[in-house]
Amino acid sequence: MLKRTSCFIASLLLLLCLAGCENASITPSVTPKLNGIALSEYAIIYDQDDVDYNRRAAQYIQGEIQSRIGLSLPIRDDNSAESTYEIVVGETNRDISSQLDAQTGTNFAILADDNRIALEGEYFTIAAAAYYFVETYITDTACEAVIPKETMVHSPIVKEAKSVIFLIGDGMGQYQSRLFDYLSVPAYAVSDGENQFYGYMLPAKGLSRTDSLSGTTDSAAGGTALSTGFKTNNGYIGKDQSHKVRQSLTDLAISMGKATAIMSTEVQTGATPASFSAHADDRSHTNTIYSNQMMLKNRYGTIFSGNLKDYNNSDLEREIATTLSAMEDSENGFFLMYEEAHIDGACHNQDVDQAFVALIRFNQAIGLFMEYAFYHPDTFVLITADHETGSMGLDSSGKIVCNTGVHSSSDVPVFAYGHMSECFNNKVVENIQIPKTIAKLWGVEKFGSENAEYPPLF
Ligand SMILES: [Zn+2]
Repeated sequence: MLKRTSCFIASLLLLLCLAGCENASITPSVTPKLNGIALSEYAIIYDQDDVDYNRRAAQYIQGEIQSRIGLSLPIRDDNSAESTYEIVVGETNRDISSQLDAQTGTNFAILADDNRIALEGEYFTIAAAAYYFVETYITDTACEAVIPKETMVHSPIVKEAKSVIFLIGDGMGQYQSRLFDYLSVPAYAVSDGENQFYGYMLPAKGLSRTDSLSGTTDSAAGGTALSTGFKTNNGYIGKDQSHKVRQSLTDLAISMGKATAIMSTEVQTGATPASFSAHADDRSHTNTIYSNQMMLKNRYGTIFSGNLKDYNNSDLEREIATTLSAMEDSENGFFLMYEEAHIDGACHNQDVDQAFVALIRFNQAIGLFMEYAFYHPDTFVLITADHETGSMGLDSSGKIVCNTGVHSSSDVPVFAYGHMSECFNNKVVENIQIPKTIAKLWGVEKFGSENAEYPPLF
């Protein structure tokens, strides 16, 4: 591992030299090394067959070495000729890559031989490997890092959560989240080449109960429970059963000086985004909802991004990246809600194939949000649904079908990643527990109760 002692001594010598010998050259006598080789000898190589996660991980390593050490290493895909010394990112055609076993979940692996250092992780998990590599081995201009020549498996670095990304698959019950197991990805789907729902890679997997005070919930009461921590009647937006305005997670985040964003593949006044950004007696009060949202936007800078269903693959990717980069410099972190709205609509139509298309689009977004969280370990990610739609299940021939065209009371999946995500692992929680736990991550204990710490914004 890191030679912290020699690093310390080198720094000390440099300091003594700077203090004591005014005319001496300040060229450090130690150059940064990886496994005994000068860092400047390495090229960064990435697997070009996979989606862009590997290329971005290679660029991240290159950028961090540039800013931390002042060295600019070349970066190439694995179709290029082999260099003598390489930092290898992803499952490349280099021999060392074949020695790294596939990892599970969000774990990743690092391995060195005499000439190479290889990082490998599934999909976006390569981002966690790149972050770990830089944080552990690229520390300062004088250090010599030693990377073991046997496979080291790590889990991502996690820090206390300042930022929260809350992902809602409208109508996504347990079967909807498992459609990859039953159907093959249609050629026309917006897809990044995945073959599994990323939620199942996250370390915490549980369930949530969704019923509202009206019984089986609609999206308004379901969204309001997830945003305010209060069960309410169907149709209500951000209000409890006595029509009292209840603070949403978005309101709380704004009160705490965090940046906020509401994204949906449907219109921004739809019931789910509205539940996180408005307070109205009914989901049909579109004018009230829209004027509430405009107030958040104009007064507090909340970013609204709707109708993402109309975006193609790369446009959706760009919209998510743009929104995240607009918030990443927020000193107090941010709260972002993203809804995939069309699993619900497809299941109302009992159209399993279209539900899968929507799930695949949701999955692509989840991959990008997870990648962000790995590069920003103070980010907590939670994926769930407001309710199940269609009582999806297997028919007598083992085919997956929607048995109804309406919402059901089935429990929905909860997937979580980040600091304290184990709160959700192997648990069945009431939906109102989810925002309360998120508020606790931010040190707010009484969110979703009568004596909440912060008053509603309006
Ligand atoms: Zn819904």
